[in-house]
Amino acid sequence: MAEARLDWLGCATFRLTVGPTVVFLDAYLDRVSTAPVVGITTADVDRADWIVVGHSHFDHAYGAEKIALRTGAKILGSYETVRIMGRAGVPAEQLVPVSGGEHIRLGPDLNVRVLPSVHSCLWAKNAGQAHETCFGDLDVLQHERDERLGDLVGWIAALGPEVHEHLHDSNQGALGDGGALLFLFETPDGSVLYQDTSGHWSGILEHLRPDVAILAAAGRGNVDGEPTQGSLAQFVAREAELLQLRRVILGHHDDWMPGFSVPLDPAPIRSELATRLPHVDLLEMGYLEDRPLFSGL
Ligand SMILES: [Zn+2]
Repeated sequence: MAEARLDWLGCATFRLTVGPTVVFLDAYLDRVSTAPVVGITTADVDRADWIVVGHSHFDHAYGAEKIALRTGAKILGSYETVRIMGRAGVPAEQLVPVSGGEHIRLGPDLNVRVLPSVHSCLWAKNAGQAHETCFGDLDVLQHERDERLGDLVGWIAALGPEVHEHLHDSNQGALGDGGALLFLFETPDGSVLYQDTSGHWSGILEHLRPDVAILAAAGRGNVDGEPTQGSLAQFVAREAELLQLRRVILGHHDDWMPGFSVPLDPAPIRSELATRLPHVDLLEMGYLEDRPLFSGL
């Protein structure tokens, strides 16, 4: 039986290996020069069969074009992700657009189901660490959300010359987030759900029963289109509860763009999980710590 292994490559980017099949989950390896060094860049990637991209923002999609062109891997992502990849020079034969509802064979022991999702509320007030609570910002109309997001983008661009240059280099012309997706990977040994931004439709999560989930832990969570009321720890634990998980792996929680991001202390998430799902395992991964995904479950 093909063992499933998972490697964290910083931000929400992971490498899933199932037997002979190598899948990148997001592709953001070429980070701002001030970010902690992960130890791998797109120039180091020689093997990939698929690149599965959760949404079109640069800290997820940027780099997929380079890996695809180096390895011949196919890119699976939203219609917007696929559009910007085509613009970046990836041949159409390597592009697989999806929007939710697809069930795709990735390898001899690996299939994926695609599900619709939502992006975290970038435009809303946001606490720094996972235990800090945030309330309000409900029923804000889209034009006001867009205005607030515009202010945020301006603020980020002014963080310093390194960030400014990185935003310029990594700008692939995506329209917004391009629509966020979830991916449910199925192997003979178990299933793993991949989420790369802190948002969900409750009605979708409550019907899924993956063994493991990679859950994004960054920013203000989005619950059914509105900002979560409470803390990020409560938001992540609620997702784990809806999914009835046995193992949680966090993503997007490192200091991937200093000045904007913060290195997240997972302790409040661990303790919130323990109160709701006493038997759940929170697997903390370091960069490039290739780990078996389902062992011990
Ligand atoms: Zn994003």
